[in-house]
Formats: sequence, structure tokens, C-alpha cells
Amino acid sequence: MRETLVLNASFEPLSTVSLHRAVVLVMQDKAVVEQAHSGLRFRAAQVDIPVPQVIRLCRYVRVPFRQRAPWSRRGVLVRDRHRCAYCGRRAATVDHVVPKSHGGADSWLNTVAACSEDNQRKADRTPEQAGMRLLAQPFEPTPADALLLALGVRDRAALPEWLARTA
Ligand SMILES: [Zn+2]
Repeated sequence: MRETLVLNASFEPLSTVSLHRAVVLVMQDKAVVEQAHSGLRFRAAQVDIPVPQVIRLCRYVRVPFRQRAPWSRRGVLVRDRHRCAYCGRRAATVDHVVPKSHGGADSWLNTVAACSEDNQRKADRTPEQAGMRLLAQPFEPTPADALLLALGVRDRAALPEWLARTA
């Protein structure tokens, strides 16, 4: 599902919406397209606009809606910058700190990026049981990070400069 980032009139990131909702906002003149997926056009009867990646509201919204990121394996890897929580090397798998078989949840605070070696070594055990130590504690992404995750942006450096400043 393609998500579109919504900026306030002041350029502050507010939330993400579905592509459909973003197109409706632009068609109703409630928002303008700030950044589009290059080459992609949204075409329907009477409509032909670039597929928006970022839209900006035409009127300032006073109550910002703070979005919490839904948990996902991809999100954990992005949050941890693809670094293993146990050894710091490149990670491609997600480890449940408290294993699911021990009642551990699919949640931001119970999952970390892990290299496949450490993931296999830890297996169905807690870090204490496995004699392994977390280099850093897992955390809930900030609202700004949540927006980037929803957009599938791995790295702030990939954002346009004006957006990287606010995110
Ligand atoms: Zn590792």
C-alpha cells in the first residue's frame, strides 16, 4: 500500500494517508503536491495529476495528529539501521528479545534487528538464557521516524533538504 506524507501548511510533517485520500485532498484543493513519484501519473476521468509522495495542506491545521508506527519487521530493521543488536554487524533478520514461545509480543519494545548467526545462536531463549547482551535497548520510533517508516524511507539523507530539516 502506497502511503503519502501529509505536511502542514507550515511544512511540518503531520501524518500519512493512503494514496487515494491524498489524491482526493489535492482534487478538492485542500492540499498541493510537494513531491511526486517521478514518471507516475494518477489518471481517472477528469483527473491527471502526478502520483503524490508528499502533499502539503493549503490551510494550517492547528491540532497535529501524532501518528504511532504500526509494528513491522521491515520497520524494526529500518529503526535499527540494519545493525545487529547483539554484535553490531549487518542484520537482515528480526529477533524477538523475549521469544514468542515465551509470550513475547510483536512489538517495538520486544524486537531488534539481528544478524542471522546471532538469531540462530539465541534461538528460543531470552538474552539472559543465551548469555547474550543487547548493545542498546529497543525503542518506540518517534513520530517523525514513524512518518519516514510509513513512507518506506530508510535514511533521512535520502529526503529533500527542506523535509529532512523538519522530520
Ligand atoms: Zn549479530
